[in-house]
Amino acid sequence: LVQLYQPLNFFGFIYREIKQALIDMERMFELMSVEREIADRPGAEPLAIAGATLEFRNVRFGYDPRREILKGVSFVVPAGHTVAVVGSSGAGKSTLSRLLFRFYDIDEGQILIDGQDIRDVTQKSLRAALGIVPQDTVLFNDTITYNIAYGHPGAGTAEIEQAARMAHIHDFILAMPDQYKTIVGERGLKLSGGEKQRVAIARTILKDPAILLFDEATSALDTNTEREIQANLREVSRGRTTLVIAHRLSTIIDADEIIVLEAGRIAERGRHHELIAAQGRYAEMWRKQQEAAEAGQPIEVPPPFF
Ligand code: ATP
Repeated sequence: LVQLYQPLNFFGFIYREIKQALIDMERMFELMSVEREIADRPGAEPLAIAGATLEFRNVRFGYDPRREILKGVSFVVPAGHTVAVVGSSGAGKSTLSRLLFRFYDIDEGQILIDGQDIRDVTQKSLRAALGIVPQDTVLFNDTITYNIAYGHPGAGTAEIEQAARMAHIHDFILAMPDQYKTIVGERGLKLSGGEKQRVAIARTILKDPAILLFDEATSALDTNTEREIQANLREVSRGRTTLVIAHRLSTIIDADEIIVLEAGRIAERGRHHELIAAQGRYAEMWRKQQEAAEAGQPIEVPPPFF
């Protein structure tokens, strides 16, 4: 009996193992279907850019259906213009950029580029049309050339240098002993926040996207870097449809429209001087940043621009 029991027990063990494996696979497929990547619609066409007007039309979205983050947001960035979004932490500013890249699909409304719903076009063409200067640029432990050309393997030396010139980092690079062969990154030459951003801008200029997303860093910066970033933004956004996610109001005083987002809704909108005159939330934020600057905190706030 013992001789018979042992093999049966063994088969029982195998059976339980296989059953558990099947359950695990089932769970894996369940998870995969919940967290699946956003797929292109069958027959999706490439995005056709004609000037690149960007529109958020009554956009509603929640990462979790029980908690709506954007509660009906509408705005237009006309071709070649700059719109800035400001608002307190958690208001939903960065969510706007994630939705534009279509990392998530919205629950209601539309996101349109030149009248085309981003859900109807191929994601490849959508992402090719978007350029982002991120909050914190991560540089690779490699040469400046590699870092600027990253993502554009076919870029030639002349193109790379032209992009660096436009990003105002060319002279800085030439002043170093190894010039474009200088190794940067954690184990190489450490660049300042503003310099790193210029490398990211050169990378973006090389990509030449129709729409630019400028995601400003939340971290405190010194006055010079602030000023540098403000100039950088002005350069790279010239003539390009630009959406700025801003934390420092000084960066965006000459935006064509400023949107104040509060808890997923647009609380105020207008140009800098209009919002100052309205004496609402924006004016209050401006006043606080000015006070912080006067108290010697590293927030550079230039005089109002009327
Ligand atoms: P900050 O100025 O601090 O960067 P923000 O305005 O950019 O804030 P978002 O990052 O858009 O805010 O986040 C809006 C809300 O969405 C926050 O309450 C946040 O907790 C929530 N949220 C953000 N990302 C996710 C996610 N991946 N899953 C679930 N909730 C998220």
